[in-house]
Amino acid sequence: MSEEKIVVANKGLVRAEFAFWVGQYMDKFYDALENKKIIGNKCPKCGDVFVPPRKICGKCNKTIPLDQNWVDLPDAGVLKNYTITYYKINDRASRKVKKPQIIGMVQIDGSNTAIVYRLLDIEPEKVKIGMKVKVQWEEKTKGDPSDIKGFIRV
Ligand SMILES: [Zn+2]
Repeated sequence: MSEEKIVVANKGLVRAEFAFWVGQYMDKFYDALENKKIIGNKCPKCGDVFVPPRKICGKCNKTIPLDQNWVDLPDAGVLKNYTITYYKINDRASRKVKKPQIIGMVQIDGSNTAIVYRLLDIEPEKVKIGMKVKVQWEEKTKGDPSDIKGFIRV
């Protein structure tokens, strides 16, 4: 017994608007970004500071209480590593760009983790691991990761 099926395919993109909640820890973090501030949270056992904040320390498996252990941090840090790409990021079409983009891992001063953002206003050959960088804030913040435009050399 065979069943005949008709398959219809439509090529193109379907845009779906959606909203989701990032959780209480990230909510606080994004609120701080909206005010152009970087905060992290500190493990009560080992003292590691996380940016972005975490609920549980991966090293000690200790829960970091939501209402405690928040740390104000500067909007500056050290470049720990980087890569250079000719592809657009944050773009699902991933088209090639003429000017390479530099994506850096930045450890905010006073934290033990690194965040990934673009390095701005610097030529690839001038980038050095260990160089001091600081946040370039978006003029109008909205409480999400894009409030940080990228990092510039200090
Ligand atoms: Zn810990």
